[in-house]
Amino acid sequence: MADIETFRRETRAWLEANCPAEMRTPPDEENDRCWGGRNWKFKSEAQRQWFEAMRDRGWTVPDWPKEYGGGGLSKEETKVLRQEMRALNCRAPLDSFGIWMLGPALLKYGTDAQKKEHLPKIARGEIRWCQGYSEPGAGSDLASLQTRADDHGDHFIINGQKIWTSYADKADWIFCLVRTDFSAKKHEGISFVLFDMASPGVTTRPILLISGKSPFCETFFDNVKALKSNLVGVQNKGWDVAKYLLTHERDMIGAMGLGGGRPLGQVAADAIGVENGVLDAPVLRADLARLEVDAWAFQLAMERAVDLSKAGQSHPAYSSFLKYYGTELNKRRHELTMSTLGSDGLEWESARSQEGDAPRAWLRTKANSIEGGTSEVQLNIITKRILELPGA
Ligand SMILES: Cc1cc2nc3c(=O)[nH]c(=O)nc-3n(C[C@H](O)[C@H](O)[C@H](O)COP(=O)(O)OP(=O)(O)OC[C@H]3O[C@@H](n4cnc5c(N)ncnc54)[C@H](O)[C@@H]3O)c2cc1C
Repeated sequence: MADIETFRRETRAWLEANCPAEMRTPPDEENDRCWGGRNWKFKSEAQRQWFEAMRDRGWTVPDWPKEYGGGGLSKEETKVLRQEMRALNCRAPLDSFGIWMLGPALLKYGTDAQKKEHLPKIARGEIRWCQGYSEPGAGSDLASLQTRADDHGDHFIINGQKIWTSYADKADWIFCLVRTDFSAKKHEGISFVLFDMASPGVTTRPILLISGKSPFCETFFDNVKALKSNLVGVQNKGWDVAKYLLTHERDMIGAMGLGGGRPLGQVAADAIGVENGVLDAPVLRADLARLEVDAWAFQLAMERAVDLSKAGQSHPAYSSFLKYYGTELNKRRHELTMSTLGSDGLEWESARSQEGDAPRAWLRTKANSIEGGTSEVQLNIITKRILELPGA
C-alpha cells in the first residue's frame, strides 16, 4: 500500500510537470487526438511534447512489458496512473487500434518474433493499424466472410472486399480476417493475417457518415501478398483470435460511456444560465443528475471489470454488457447536449459552433451501438451467456 501511495505521489508530480496545459483540455475534434503512424503530423507542439514524454516512459501502453515498448506497470499501478490522468484531465497521448485491439491479441496469440516486430511500433506510435473484419455480406454474422487467402507456401494471395474499415485510408497496416478453407464449417476456415496497406493491390474508397465526416472506407484486395510470418495464431483457427480481439474492441467502445468532453453541467450552465447557483431548468437538471449518477455507476462497473480480470475471474461476455451500457450512456449524453443547446445545437457550419461540433458529435454517437457489434447482438450475448435465459 505504501509503495502504491508513493507511486501515486510521484506519478501526480510527473504528470503535473510534463503534461502541457493544452493537453489538459478535452479534445474537440479528430486532430486533437494523436493517432500516430507513418504520415502523422502533430497538430501542435504541445501534442508532440506530451506524446513523446509519455512514449519515452512506455506510458502509451503502461501495462505492456518493457521489452515491447510498454511501461511494465502492474495492473494496480496502471489503474493509479489512469486515475491521476483523469484527475488532471490529461488527454490520452496516443489513440490507436494497435493499442486497443491488436496489441492484446498479439500478446496472447502472437509468436515471439511477431511481438518483437509489431508491439514496439504500436507503443511508439510508428505504425497506425486498421481492422479488416466486416464485409458487405458479413457484419453481425461475421463468420460468413468471403475474402479469400490462397496458400502459396510462404505467403498468401488475398482477394476480396472489406467495408466500414475505419481510417483504412490513413492506416499503415491492417489486421484482417480471411477465409483460408472454403470446405470447412464457416467458423473453422478463417485465418487472422497482418499486412501492409501500401502493398500492391490494396485500394481504399472513403464512405461518408451521417455526421458529414468520413471516418471509414470500402477496402479492396486484388492479389495482395501477405507473408505467412504474419499469420497470427493457427491457420484456419483465426476465429479464436478474432473473438478475443472483439472483447477488447467492445471494452474500448464501451469506455465512451465515461464521457471525457467538457462536463455537461458546465455546458448547460453556459447555455441556459444559473439562478442561485442552480441550473435554471428543473427537468433538464434532473436528467443531467440521472446521467451523472449512471455514469458514476458505470465507471465503478468498469473498474470492477479490471479488478475481476486481474483476479482471473472475468466473465468472457462482460465486454458485451460494458459495450451495450457504455454506448447507450454516450448516446444519452449527446441527446442531452442537444437539448441543452436548443436551437444553437442545430448550427452545422458556423465558426461559432466550431463547424457544428455538437450536432456532428451527436450524430456520430448513432454509430456507437452499431460499431464493434450492434446493441441487438450484445443483448443476445447477454441473455444467452450472462443471464442464461431459457430459449435464448
Ligand atoms: C462507425 C463505424 C465504424 C466501423 N468500423 C469498422 C472497422 O474498422 N472494421 C470493421 O471490420 N468493421 C467496422 N464497422 C462495421 C461494424 O462492425 C458492423 O457495422 C456491425 O458489426 C454490424 O454489421 P452490419 O453493418 O453488416 O449490420 P447487419 O449485421 O446487417 O445488421 C443489420 C441489423 O440487423 C440486426 N441483427 C443482425 N443480426 C441479428 C441477430 N442475430 N439478432 C438480432 N438482431 C440482429 C442488427 O442489430 C442491425 O440492427 C464499423 C461500423 C461503424 C458504424
